[in-house]
Amino acid sequence: MTVTDQVHVLIVGAGFAGLTAAIECKRHGHQVTLLESFPEVKALGDIISFGANAGRIFKRWPGVEEQFDKICIQSKGLLFKNYLGEDLIYQDWDKEPYYGKNFNGHRGEMHEIIYRHAIEVGVDIKLGHRVTDYFETDTEAGVVANGERFSADVVLAADGVRSKGRQIVLGYDDKPKSSGYAIFRTWFPAGELATNPLTKFMCENGDYHCGWLGPDIHFLAATTKGGKDFSWVCTHKDEADIEESWSTPGKLEDARKVLEGWEPAVQAIIDATPPDSLVDWKLVYRDPLPTWVSPKARIALIGDAAHPFLPTSIQGASQAMEDGATIAVTLELAGKQKAPEAIRAFEAIRYGRVRAAQLTGESTREKWHKADFDNLKNTPEKIKLPREEWLLGHDAEKHAYEVYNETIAALEAKA
Ligand SMILES: Cc1cc2nc3c(=O)[nH]c(=O)nc-3n(C[C@H](O)[C@H](O)[C@H](O)COP(=O)(O)OP(=O)(O)OC[C@H]3O[C@@H](n4cnc5c(N)ncnc54)[C@H](O)[C@@H]3O)c2cc1C
Repeated sequence: MTVTDQVHVLIVGAGFAGLTAAIECKRHGHQVTLLESFPEVKALGDIISFGANAGRIFKRWPGVEEQFDKICIQSKGLLFKNYLGEDLIYQDWDKEPYYGKNFNGHRGEMHEIIYRHAIEVGVDIKLGHRVTDYFETDTEAGVVANGERFSADVVLAADGVRSKGRQIVLGYDDKPKSSGYAIFRTWFPAGELATNPLTKFMCENGDYHCGWLGPDIHFLAATTKGGKDFSWVCTHKDEADIEESWSTPGKLEDARKVLEGWEPAVQAIIDATPPDSLVDWKLVYRDPLPTWVSPKARIALIGDAAHPFLPTSIQGASQAMEDGATIAVTLELAGKQKAPEAIRAFEAIRYGRVRAAQLTGESTREKWHKADFDNLKNTPEKIKLPREEWLLGHDAEKHAYEVYNETIAALEAKA
């Protein structure tokens, strides 16, 4: 590919969607510029999960898997208990169908590795650039950041749940809405939990994963780094205003109220949680957008900007990565002159799959939160974490190559 044939891709947002799109676009020969509003990269967040469908993408990036192996959770299964502390079922990963390697760990630590990898492969990342406007013409697309105009062949808006890119794509300002749930989340050194008789089972034999289920609430706890780090999340009903922010401090007394009457191990975990580590994150939701593509098809929304996920899908970050892997292929196959075709093909390839994956977040939450708690001990199979071939066995890059021509033909037939 000569430099003049190279597609210039401008990406907004250095989350997992933006960084994956950037790395994959570099792998497929495109020129990439990425703008991120944060002035520096900090290890923000707590636990994040990537299914085998995302693991397959990471494995194509030299050196990344080896770095992840040192920090990711190595638990061998997931024990489910009810809120009274009675064991329900142990989901043993060695006995489940294997669809590939998944990676779960601290979001900030994993993000830093991917960020460094993007720099290593030559992505031009400009931190401290907050995008305030998007534009497109018949021949280019671009953004305004810090008062400066940046243009390229296409723009990928990977700017998260509060995406500014949505305005130009939809033609109106689309407000997120409350899902009716919020999630307490935290990550801290296991400390006293490693010796407390109630909780040491999670720390003494390496990493462990345990979930407690109660009426309209679930509480998941995990240890990592050989049982040294501890994290927990608790999804519960919440009708509060959706001023979603990762830095909203959570209050331990609110968590205690939500988990009143739950078994002593859960109370011990809350008691051991450093108060300033707790985040209270209102779960934002939105109806599926009618499109992720701008009128001239030079701007695409990707990741949470296009499709926020409920955490119970355990797929938000993985689907964000599949977006990047797919678009890198469609841009390669379409080439610079037909870049809008690539953007339309990306949406057509991804839309139905993403919707199906989003719905798993609702179905899993419903089966955990609305379980027949009086009978659960007799029917524990019902609450197992769904692990399905269509979702986890998927190879986004391979799939994009396979279906590109038929997708273009279908789009042309519709036009
Ligand atoms: C700080 C932070 C912490 C998180 N912690 C967790 C966690 O612990 N567990 C978990 O499961 N999920 C977490 N998430 C969400 C999770 O990363 C995403 O849901 C998922 O990975 C999809 O990623 P995304 O790249 O689409 O969106 P995001 O991860 O939200 O990334 C969007 C990026 O765009 C940047 N951005 C936004 N607006 C602009 C703008 N106008 N100009 C330039 N840049 C902009 C943001 O700063 C951010 O870096 C976190 C997200 C963020 C931003």
